[in-house]
Amino acid sequence: MRGGVLRCARGLRRVAALGVLALGLLQPVACGGASGGVGPPPSGALSVSFIDVGQGDAVLVQAGGEDYLVDAGNPEEGPVVVDFLRERGVEDLEGLVSTSGDADHSGGLAEVLEAFPVERVYLSGYPKDTLTYAGFLRAVRAEEGAEVERVRAGYGMEWGGVRVDVLNPPSGGFFSSSNDNSVALLLTYGQARVLLAGDAERQAEEYMAGGPYTGPLTLLKVSHHGSETSSSPLFLSRFRPRVAVIQCGRDNPYGHPDPDVLERLRRAGARVFRTDLHGDVIVTIHRDLVEVAVENPLRARP
Ligand SMILES: [Zn+2]
Repeated sequence: MRGGVLRCARGLRRVAALGVLALGLLQPVACGGASGGVGPPPSGALSVSFIDVGQGDAVLVQAGGEDYLVDAGNPEEGPVVVDFLRERGVEDLEGLVSTSGDADHSGGLAEVLEAFPVERVYLSGYPKDTLTYAGFLRAVRAEEGAEVERVRAGYGMEWGGVRVDVLNPPSGGFFSSSNDNSVALLLTYGQARVLLAGDAERQAEEYMAGGPYTGPLTLLKVSHHGSETSSSPLFLSRFRPRVAVIQCGRDNPYGHPDPDVLERLRRAGARVFRTDLHGDVIVTIHRDLVEVAVENPLRARP
């Protein structure tokens, strides 16, 4: 059941609130009752920020006074991610996740490790033989006291009151393609469910769609930057996202997001936000309310 959409402009310095979506059945909502935008996140909420790093992924998860970063874009985006984290009140990271060894996910992580103390680093263990990834692993080894966890499906965590289940890669072995071995995280916070699955493509999507965690999603980070090889009809029918965020670069050479994917998301009932159009996208979930705040509201499409 989709709730109504209210629009309310807010005078934030960099990120303007776009609207408030109600979760559940006709819950009353009020502009100004939720808070996205720059500055630290509100308490008693789950905040998921999709940082505009061009053609790449970088997602900040904040809840219960704890901060977790999932990917950090290409190497040159490291400073952008560090600045964003500081704006959001991050002083240290309880955890950092590398969903993939590809440069557009892990490239900026070394700079983040240099800028903030990090308690734990989560990765799949799928090998990647590049100088960029070797630089990230070197920065992890240099991080004093940081514990490294190799995570697979079946691994569970608790992030500041948010249940986090790892849905991919499979516990029994890796897929043949690198993208399909992306670390996928399902966040559960009260009624709300958020799925971040890196660059997962057909094999990984089929695996997750056949697993025990299907059901409606409050929020989906669209896999692989909106590529046609992801967001299959089967996957979307099993997970049914209400809000979908695509992280891709302006005028990127891959043609992301693919028009067919946008159509599939629309048919699945998702409201779509894109970092190439909207800049930073910050989703704040508290109780039964979901607020989406964007950096460039004028580019937003209803
Ligand atoms: Zn990618």
